[in-house]
Amino acid sequence: VKNIILPFLLSIMVFPQANRLTTYDELSSIVYALDESSDILKVELIGKSVSGRNLYGMFFSENNFGEDQDKIKVLFFAQQHGNEQSGKEGALRLASELLNPENKFLFKKIDLVLIPQVNPDGSEIDKRLNANGMDLNRNHLILSEPETISLHKLFNKYLFHVSLDVHEYYPYSKSWKEFGFYKTADEQFGLTSNLNVPESIRKYSKQKVLPFMREWVNDKGFSFNEYLVGGPPNLERLRHSTVDINDGRQSLGVQGTLSFILEGKNGKDSSADNIEFRAEGQKTAMLGLLNFVYDNASEIKLMISEEREKDKQGPVVIRMEHVSSGESIIVPAQDVNTGIGYFYNNLKLSSCSK
Ligand SMILES: [Zn+2]
Repeated sequence: VKNIILPFLLSIMVFPQANRLTTYDELSSIVYALDESSDILKVELIGKSVSGRNLYGMFFSENNFGEDQDKIKVLFFAQQHGNEQSGKEGALRLASELLNPENKFLFKKIDLVLIPQVNPDGSEIDKRLNANGMDLNRNHLILSEPETISLHKLFNKYLFHVSLDVHEYYPYSKSWKEFGFYKTADEQFGLTSNLNVPESIRKYSKQKVLPFMREWVNDKGFSFNEYLVGGPPNLERLRHSTVDINDGRQSLGVQGTLSFILEGKNGKDSSADNIEFRAEGQKTAMLGLLNFVYDNASEIKLMISEEREKDKQGPVVIRMEHVSSGESIIVPAQDVNTGIGYFYNNLKLSSCSK
């Protein structure tokens, strides 16, 4: 009875009001209520924020997390940037949905830790940085902040095979407005690009994971693109995000992890704008990646374990820069005035190379 009634009550409780953001106190109640409602979920504190707020790890496993070596270990973490609210909201929706009977099959193969909120202090005041004024997603090398230290301690304990860092991008800048178009993908999915990330992992990400994610997200009614930053094209290079290793995605990637970043579209006028749709988009993409991992679990585990066993005596890349490869790309965009969508073709992409 417990397992039937509580999820129903939770589905009402988790999303109390339309277009309102979940507070830290509400999030705390929700994660513990979800824990109470199910045997496959256990909530643990993985650390504390600068201001002493809890960092919750939601451990999903059909037995004891991490004990069964046949399982593939997956780490999802959201809202390193406190003003990117749909990551947290999507993660809470995902947590609730994963307890539904139709998703239980995933845990035949997967042990998942979901951290819905890495930066609760920033979230409470809707600001990007943590309470020390640090950008947590530039802190994965120096690890000076309690939030990033907690995350890497957790990673080091379990050595996850797959990771996903959930963010938002803001397409409504002045320069794009003047250009006449906004980037419009509901979900952008970014791959590792630093050359210290094993080549097999970068190729697998591009050739197998990316097409699956595109199809999955499109099928569920959300637009999708490989993550692009920069532009507009007459002003700034469009490129596949940073090649530095101090962010979440690359810092785990260089440790031989199949690692990704997810970028939902931010609200136009406030962080709560259209939040239900945005949260659904984030949840949908996260669920898509879990399904991919389930379908390909043994292949991924083999690739990761082979890479981690290798003696890494190759060249070490300290610093990289994007250069133009001449490759043409498609940028989903919408007209600033009419809202009509277009695909921008034949923009020169600056992508990484040696
Ligand atoms: Zn971000």
